[in-house]
Amino acid sequence: MRHMLTWAAPAVVLVLLAGPAVACRNTGSFERWLDEFKREAVAQKISQSTIESALDNVTFDPEIVRRDHGQGVFQQSFLQFSNRMASNERIVEGKRRIQKNAALFARIEQQYGVPAPVLVSFWGLESDFGTNNGKFSVLRSIATLAYDCRRPEFFRPQLMDALRVIDRGDLSASDMIGDWAGELGGMQITPSDYYKYAVDFDGDGRRDAVHSVPDTLASAANFLVGLGWKRSQPWLQEVRVPTTLPWDQADLAIQLPRSKWAVFGVTLADGRPLPADDLPASLLLLMGRNGPAFLAYPNFQAYLGWNQALVYATTAAYLATRIEGAPLVQHGNGPVALLSAAQILDLQHLLASHGYSVGNFDGKLGLTTRAGIKQAQMKLGLPADSYPTADLIARLRTN
Ligand code: CA
Repeated sequence: MRHMLTWAAPAVVLVLLAGPAVACRNTGSFERWLDEFKREAVAQKISQSTIESALDNVTFDPEIVRRDHGQGVFQQSFLQFSNRMASNERIVEGKRRIQKNAALFARIEQQYGVPAPVLVSFWGLESDFGTNNGKFSVLRSIATLAYDCRRPEFFRPQLMDALRVIDRGDLSASDMIGDWAGELGGMQITPSDYYKYAVDFDGDGRRDAVHSVPDTLASAANFLVGLGWKRSQPWLQEVRVPTTLPWDQADLAIQLPRSKWAVFGVTLADGRPLPADDLPASLLLLMGRNGPAFLAYPNFQAYLGWNQALVYATTAAYLATRIEGAPLVQHGNGPVALLSAAQILDLQHLLASHGYSVGNFDGKLGLTTRAGIKQAQMKLGLPADSYPTADLIARLRTN
């Protein structure tokens, strides 16, 4: 579980910052850096007692940097990943948790508009419902990563926000145990998101999204609202697509009314007609035109805000639908050949050499690379479903 989570969450950071490997080197000592950081914390009006309790005994942890460097490229298709992560055990346990906390979930939905299956799905994926929040000192991890020369612009504000969380009286320094990359509590949220979104929902005066289940769940709901969650709207729905679909319309950047998808011949997964209404939706074909198909509603953007990795975001949204009662996902219209990370990297270079934007050369099928693939497919007159094939690579090589 843990390695999946560490893959899932910091992927956001990797997408933003992983470029061509840039060799960098720290020039000063960690101790000197920490003294300088403490002075900045004073300037930021963090209390002396918080600075002492949080940072006085913090040391550099080479293990954290090693792990951070070691995050390899991870290629799993949606079907592989969701099969493992949206397991039957997790669905059953998710339903049990909803029953057990029914009154609490009702109160949260009333206040924030986020339904129980959505919260319980994140809770299950991120920490197996709070049973696996991580074992690392968040302060030590984040201080190490804030000092490390590669991504201080991300981790330095995180460390300051961790101090603010302590200063506000939400958590003590010793409460801050979490993932190696510094994510906290049952929802594995970063200290900055904690500072911004955590709420006190059990009324004890502290925002404790580490030990308190009401605070944990309501904080996640508040975070989702901050990411744009809209009350009473669906987030994801499996559908069936005809082989005649204009594939270039299947794009998260394109939203059409459900009635328009119905005109295109899209139906519910069981073949019944879609509601012919104006609710906007994007058609999401994670594995191309032969793979599973979903309508992604505006609330799906909140999933991408939680985690930009498309396969993770879709799996979290799908697990929520499963907990809500949706059947097992169908496998689409045919077999889908998967490309390796090396092939995707190759494709990224080919696309770039043809002038298409692909984001970073990272061997990952992210949103930008998918957009580049779609442009190339349209140029070459191929079905523009944003999904790469060996045929596309061959054509780009010879064109
Ligand atoms: Ca509380």
